[in-house]
Amino acid sequence: MNIQQALDIRIDYAIAKVNHWSSLGLFALKEANEFGYVNYSSPVPNLFIDEPDLKQAFLGGQRSAALEIAEQAYNDAIDWVEELAEMNACSGCNNLHGHPCPHHG
Ligand SMILES: [Zn+2]
Repeated sequence: MNIQQALDIRIDYAIAKVNHWSSLGLFALKEANEFGYVNYSSPVPNLFIDEPDLKQAFLGGQRSAALEIAEQAYNDAIDWVEELAEMNACSGCNNLHGHPCPHHG
């Protein structure tokens, strides 16, 4: 985790807060969201803990990343099951040697 990046986000957010929520505030939340996405397996940065919106933006980014990882794992599992079903129906794979055919091996 890049602490300098977390600090930059926190500073942008603090500046926006004292300036009655300029567009910098939304920018900081978007940055916190992307920071969470990239650091999907890290704890919430201490710099975000005391700002619920920053913390939620970070966690939202982590959820997006986790969802993508889960979707990829699901798709990989489906591909694997489909290949196994294909091999199960393949006469070349179902031989006396127990080895997959050249196409599936
Ligand atoms: Zn085969």
